[in-house]
Amino acid sequence: MTELNQNIDPAEIHHFRQLGKHWWDKEGPMKMLHAVNPIRTAFILDCTELTNKAVLDIGCGAGILSEALAFHQAKVLGIDMAQEAIEAAQAHAKTRSEPWLNTSLRYQLSSAEDLATSQPNSFDIITCMECLEHVPDPLSIIKACRTLLRPNGYLLLSTLNRTPKSYLQAIIGAEYILKMIPKGTHHYEKFIRPHEMHEWARSQGFMLKKLAGIQYHPITKNFSLSQDVSVNYLACYQLTDK
Ligand code: SAH
Repeated sequence: MTELNQNIDPAEIHHFRQLGKHWWDKEGPMKMLHAVNPIRTAFILDCTELTNKAVLDIGCGAGILSEALAFHQAKVLGIDMAQEAIEAAQAHAKTRSEPWLNTSLRYQLSSAEDLATSQPNSFDIITCMECLEHVPDPLSIIKACRTLLRPNGYLLLSTLNRTPKSYLQAIIGAEYILKMIPKGTHHYEKFIRPHEMHEWARSQGFMLKKLAGIQYHPITKNFSLSQDVSVNYLACYQLTDK
């Protein structure tokens, strides 16, 4: 793998490669992704139809979101740069009894940039969740999304805002106090403010359609969508200029 020439951070990929079989343990190190999955799926369904749509899930990990999208009748390709995550995704899909999953859910070890070269104009919807804060150049991925999407396609992103509150909640709280996610998962300087994301998206012909915050309720240990985007947020863009 020629990692240094690509838009990937080898230390980040190393971190995600270690998780191997722990990805699908709902009480394990990725439990936060499992906990937010229903509300982010609801956000996506609120933005666009999934039935029979060609969906690309960039930075899919072991397919926590990809599988949910396939269950809503989308034709999903999940890509990631961590080999073990792709293997865990493929292994988990095989444990499902639904035979149609074999044809509607595929995984591939690839970067968005490489796929944009081989499969331009191929997708109706792209999701890229909790991934952009782990790459050296997020704009490069958004540029690739423009190439990969068909005109009027949707781009759904989620990441962490760069605020004092997100530092306290997502790093100090989630990694060190509550130990909900492994220490060292997040780096504050890589967090992305919504206006920075909107500017990158706008520069590639995307129009913001919907924005929502993800709020954590420490008593019930549940997540819900909210208007507060100061920590974790979801954004839906449409490619109106292509
Ligand atoms: N999107 C999934 C997993 C999020 S964890 C979910 O929300 O459930 C972040 C994932 O991004 C990891 O699997 C990591 O390997 C992947 N990743 C990091 N840099 C990447 C890159 N440049 N290209 C593709 N995937 C990347």
